[in-house]
Amino acid sequence: MNRGMWKLFSLVLIVVLSTVLSANNHFDFDLIKKGKDNNNTLLVIGGIQGDEPGGFISASLLATHYEIIEGSVWIVPNLNFYSIIKRSRGPYGDMNRKFAYLSKKDPEYKTVERIKSFIKDNRVKLIVNLHDGSGFFRPIYEDKLHSPKKWGQCSIIDQKEIDIEKYGNLSEISAQVVSYVNENLMDDEHKYYQHNTKTKDGDKEMEKTLTYFAINNGKAAFGNEASKNLPTHKRVYYHLLALEKYMDVMGIKYKRKFKMSSKGVYNAINNDIYISMYDDKIKLPLSKIRGFLKYFPIKKDKIIDFKASNPLLTIIKNGNIYSIHYGNRRLSKLQADYQDYDEKNCSVKLLVDGNAKDVEFGETVEVSKDFLVKYDENFRVNVIGYTNKIKNETGINIKKKNIAKKFSIDKKGYIYRIEYYNDDKFAGMVLVKFKS
Ligand SMILES: [Zn+2]
Repeated sequence: MNRGMWKLFSLVLIVVLSTVLSANNHFDFDLIKKGKDNNNTLLVIGGIQGDEPGGFISASLLATHYEIIEGSVWIVPNLNFYSIIKRSRGPYGDMNRKFAYLSKKDPEYKTVERIKSFIKDNRVKLIVNLHDGSGFFRPIYEDKLHSPKKWGQCSIIDQKEIDIEKYGNLSEISAQVVSYVNENLMDDEHKYYQHNTKTKDGDKEMEKTLTYFAINNGKAAFGNEASKNLPTHKRVYYHLLALEKYMDVMGIKYKRKFKMSSKGVYNAINNDIYISMYDDKIKLPLSKIRGFLKYFPIKKDKIIDFKASNPLLTIIKNGNIYSIHYGNRRLSKLQADYQDYDEKNCSVKLLVDGNAKDVEFGETVEVSKDFLVKYDENFRVNVIGYTNKIKNETGINIKKKNIAKKFSIDKKGYIYRIEYYNDDKFAGMVLVKFKS
């Protein structure tokens, strides 16, 4: 991505995710409001169970890769964030059985109360809770994997209808979603069905769920299930199709920033993910990051302030190791090299393939052949992985082959760190990315 695009991208992200997080190991869920608040709000919930990435990644993509042009959408992409990071269905039991009764002593009591308050909010008129279920739901038994006992690939309602002003015709709405998904199947096996759990007729388990709580509070609520037998990006494909239909039903207009295809969804999940630290002094592209980065400059107070391009990204501190997590996956571990920080942010000068360029801290600069860091009296420069007898690595033409590959940020050896120091204080980082 070029500089202009990156700037625009960062700006969009900062607007989307204005919370500045810090690695203090808290796991409160995010509520991301998109569009213009109104009394016809769609509430999308992902991550009630941490081992269902299709659901929570879909919710996060709705937050980061959709523009809501008309209408109001609220997104909770990481309801049980702790279980997502732990990659567990529920470290404190199944959260989706905690909506009928819950002891105040339950460690998830506050989380459940908080989501209940959003469900009950007068502005919210329709709720979709996203899940990944095993196998493929079929109304009639076909085989072990395709049967009425399976949960994958279906639209779930608790009952046919409820007596509310809008969207009370649950069965009809769900049928519209099912038929829309079925118009866009990647494979016949993925066919969607409606699954009515008929909860009020005595389904003791379903009575404890989030959607049934919503129904009892006069809200249209649906479960949407993709199959755990599909790879994550295909589950996301089906969840997003369903969500687009729900938006359609509610008259919410959107713009999607990627192509709705297997590959388009895969790329949206895995590319263009970033984390920036300390007021953008450092900005790390995460899509192909190495699993371990040594000597990473972290502030001496050991607190890492960061902004993430995706609500499923977080940093967890364990001793001097700062692990970057993206949903269920740990992307990288940063080994802290504790430093005093120089607070001010500046731009610095580089020669990139012979052309002079002003570069800001946090920026990634694309290089075809070589780069040269211009001398600046304010800074000492260290190109990580470039070995030289001199202390300040300015005024030298550096090619990819001059830097030891093991110091790259990315697994394949294209992206390298230039670090700037003011006296002994860390001032900022620029990345150079060689053309592949
Ligand atoms: Zn589930």
